[in-house]
Amino acid sequence: MHIQVLSSGSEGNSTLVRAGEVAALVDAGLGREAMLGRLEVARLGPGAIQHVLVTHGHLDHARSAGLVAKRERATLHAADSMLTHPWARRAKTCAALAIGRDSPLASRTGGDEMRVRSVPIPHDCDPTVAFRFEHEGRVAAILTDIGRPDAEVARQLGGAHVLVLEFNYDPELMARGPYPAVLQRRIAGGRGHMSNAQGAEMLELLASENLHTLVLAHISQKTNRPDIALETAHATLERLGIANRVRVLAAPQHEALPNLPV
Ligand SMILES: [Zn+2]
Ligand SMILES: [Zn+2]
Repeated sequence: MHIQVLSSGSEGNSTLVRAGEVAALVDAGLGREAMLGRLEVARLGPGAIQHVLVTHGHLDHARSAGLVAKRERATLHAADSMLTHPWARRAKTCAALAIGRDSPLASRTGGDEMRVRSVPIPHDCDPTVAFRFEHEGRVAAILTDIGRPDAEVARQLGGAHVLVLEFNYDPELMARGPYPAVLQRRIAGGRGHMSNAQGAEMLELLASENLHTLVLAHISQKTNRPDIALETAHATLERLGIANRVRVLAAPQHEALPNLPV
């Protein structure tokens, strides 16, 4: 299995998960041109993706989901309550996410199944989910847009070899930054986003003996800096005694990361 973060941050999120003949896109939050550009960077011609999964209805995740699903002739998987949203309507084939359960994601020929579990998480858009992908014993987890660390969520996402994890904001930079107090309270609240320290706390709950790659995601360009997020993550991995075997990357907004083996 391979995972490639195509875009990460408040302007748009999208991550590609590939295993055997199956390709699944998690979120498609960029606008049309940027989204199609990133798919080209990933060397994906039209029709290569069979599944588009949406974590939640915020436009930085959902904006182009229906459009990509239509272009790819892919199934759009989103919470039942979101399938009538304007961004979802373009998709020709839709499926309601089985929230809290495991489901198969088949290739076009029906073979080579990857499994996905959608795990409900606290965020100010109901429902919001994190995803755990599994293929031939390898596991990748994607967890962003969660208001606070949560042990049950960590248990549900357990055993990841590669982890894409939210490190959204630095409290000091946010206090000095451009956001009005009401937005700051929303972000820092239990249904907003995780700070670097909260991301580190969640990392501690999620880090298993399998973990070899950590991608810091949804890093705010206005209230955080990649070097601060990286430093926080490194300190946590040092404390856990696994810094020498875990590669850490910060996912940027304006370009795709390399395609990472799981
Ligand atoms: Zn978001
Ligand atoms: Zn959100």
